[in-house]
Amino acid sequence: MPRKLAAGNWKMNGLRANLTEIETLAERHADSPIDILICPPAPLIAACQGTLLDIGGQDCHPATSGAHTGDISAQMLADVGATYVITGHSERRSDHGETDAIVAAKSEAAYAAGITAVICLGETLAEREAGTTLSVIDTQLTGSVPATATVQNTVIAYEPVWAIGTGKVPTLDQIAEVHAYIRAHLNARFDDGNKMRILYGGSVKGSNAAGIFGVPHVDGALVGGASLKADDFSEIITALEAS
Ligand code: PEP
Repeated sequence: MPRKLAAGNWKMNGLRANLTEIETLAERHADSPIDILICPPAPLIAACQGTLLDIGGQDCHPATSGAHTGDISAQMLADVGATYVITGHSERRSDHGETDAIVAAKSEAAYAAGITAVICLGETLAEREAGTTLSVIDTQLTGSVPATATVQNTVIAYEPVWAIGTGKVPTLDQIAEVHAYIRAHLNARFDDGNKMRILYGGSVKGSNAAGIFGVPHVDGALVGGASLKADDFSEIITALEAS
């Protein structure tokens, strides 16, 4: 069984005053049997050094250094204590025009820096309604997940775009169908594909977490809004610990 992972994506939310949320979580889940990751905004990462939780970036540039004003490299994230980085979040894909090839290049940069890429993919509402979800997922997996992916350097996050921040969640059958598809793809491509973690993301909260964590091939969650407050995220973490 892959080791479970509860990952929080703070997006562009959080100031130094909010670091107490991370401290509270670390205290509450000190002996947790699962991995707990917080991806705060980049300016807060260095201040998280010393916490018992894993800390990650929300994005990285494909290059190690150079003339890329405003960008951050995976090596820089690793240098201030990050051990993970999210790549290909749908907000990056839509706001910044990131293609599968760019997401793969960013993920390879993470590997080179020795950190784990949480590679996000998921269909839009139009794609789901058109019945093309699985082919969209297949294209994104093929294009975004590098051939050098391993169980150590890669986590996949299935995040239907229409479920992110909307309060809408796919049915458990819909989640099961996509996660089984992703698992089959990983098994076909990678020797350790059956151990690679596949997270579900999109409006996960305390009240729906246990049901989602009961779905086969759901190895954890990538959580946005409900990861900002220790009390809310703790409910989700507790459900994953019990699953
Ligand atoms: C996300 O941003 O990855 C996400 C899943 O957000 P939310 O949990 O708020 O839907």
